[in-house]
Amino acid sequence: MTKYDVVVIGAGPGGYVAAIRCAQLGLKTACVENWISDDGNPVLGGTCLNVGCIPSKALLDSSHHYHHIKHEAAEHGINISGATMDVNKMISRKAKIVKTLTQGINGLFKKNQVEWLKGKARLIDAHQIEITPSHDTHDEASVVETAHIVIATGSVPTRIPSAQCDGKLIVDSTGALKFNEVPKRLGIIGAGVIGLELGSVWNRLGSKVTVLEALPNFLSAVDKQIATEAEKALVQQGLDIHLGARVTGTGGNNHEVTVNFEDENGKQQMVFDKLIVAVGRSPNTFGLGAKEAGLEMDERGFIVINDKCQTSYENVYAIGDVVRGPMLAHKASEEGVAVAERIAGKSGHMNYDTIPWVIYTWPEIAWVGKTEEQLKSEGIEYNVGAFPFIASGRARAMAETNGLVKILSDKQSDRILGMHIFGPNASELITEGVVTMEFDGSAEDLARTIHAHPTLSEAIHEAALGVDGRTIHI
Ligand code: FAD
Ligand code: AMP
Repeated sequence: MTKYDVVVIGAGPGGYVAAIRCAQLGLKTACVENWISDDGNPVLGGTCLNVGCIPSKALLDSSHHYHHIKHEAAEHGINISGATMDVNKMISRKAKIVKTLTQGINGLFKKNQVEWLKGKARLIDAHQIEITPSHDTHDEASVVETAHIVIATGSVPTRIPSAQCDGKLIVDSTGALKFNEVPKRLGIIGAGVIGLELGSVWNRLGSKVTVLEALPNFLSAVDKQIATEAEKALVQQGLDIHLGARVTGTGGNNHEVTVNFEDENGKQQMVFDKLIVAVGRSPNTFGLGAKEAGLEMDERGFIVINDKCQTSYENVYAIGDVVRGPMLAHKASEEGVAVAERIAGKSGHMNYDTIPWVIYTWPEIAWVGKTEEQLKSEGIEYNVGAFPFIASGRARAMAETNGLVKILSDKQSDRILGMHIFGPNASELITEGVVTMEFDGSAEDLARTIHAHPTLSEAIHEAALGVDGRTIHI
């Protein structure tokens, strides 16, 4: 029987990063992965590379270019008529990007001598894993022995009985990444991150998009001022967002879907050409044998871990979407690195207070730390500095003036407690807030930092000055 120092289960951004870091630290490492791509080949990369972060951003970028050419280029004096979208080309471009990146992980595994065990893993106990080949290789199931296990089996789209996916008219996020034409009427259940990103893609390409969201508030986890601005912008772009609308059932025929929902006006019905179910994601432990092997699971199906990511067994770790915390690729990867270092006898650093969040609508929504509402409810005294992009020279030059930067700092110490951005390239800008918070920095630290002119980041500088009432350009 082959013996390893570490076997990682799952090769998403949590698992593949953990495996590479373990190997870099001199541990004999294998990674078990059973994902089969649409063209029938085993692939690495998990949700993020195959059906998540990367393909969704590829479509967001393509649709952004199209929308810009159609609706905004003229403002720059660029007159283009007759621009059309070749949806199949857009989808095959996305597939090519996915293939290049997933093959890149193969290369990284080879370079770092991580052994890829192709198949589905099932825990036998805290040291043994059974691997059933996922491909029709006629290979027998085998058992490997290991000193440590890292479970990184990720998550899957949450299913709801009122809208069961048929893969044709009713799809989950994976199906919504490969429509071969623009649906005329597109329904989306769930105004969360995934629903809004996919809704933006198809709205820009010409779908009439309706979003049905059960909660009464838009993006309730986001700072309220930012969420209000974002909702306004998305509605202006054409998204029809119904809040307080709980979907109760679906019906229809071979060509269209009828969606029944209830809102403050009672029972309602709408008809769509396609329906995307984007009601969140659930931890994936299907067939893993976690419970049988003695691992504690919580009532929602997450594997229970301590603050070092150890499960009920100290040599068995779990990371990423299958455990508590934000379901984000970079959170999974950072936990992967931290766990690898702990296994190798180092301390392993993970700061849950500085995980950035991004929603890749346009403008983008990004934040780190606490919202104003959280600070109020926790009774923390704070100062606020804000700066709108309309007053930024660079934003004007780009014709991207919608949005603002908002900084919240502790009233006593001035330490930054939260940064919230709605605006162009917010996904890149937020890193300034993350770095400052990681260094326990203050608004004054940012205010004293020279920012290049003209840049969008000057809005952060101005917001930091604003914490102390010293903003220059408003
Ligand atoms: P996963 O990426 O889900 O990987 C788990 C892997 O484990 C899979 O490859 C699976 O095949 C494998 N596996 C499971 N069970 C077994 C088993 N028993 N044996 C062998 N292998 C197994 N996050 C961001 O940070 N930014 C974004 O922009 C973003 N966009 C997203 C867009 C969409 C449409 C979706 C769906 C998600 C998005 N996410 C985004 C979330 C992100 O994809 C996840 O947080 C991330 O992939 C979690 O990483 P993970 O390693 O925990 O799990
Ligand atoms: P997220 O978890 O960010 O992906 O968001 C998923 C969203 O779907 C949440 O805001 C939920 O409130 C919403 N949701 C869940 N179930 C339903 C339902 N039956 N009808 C409408 N919205 C729903």
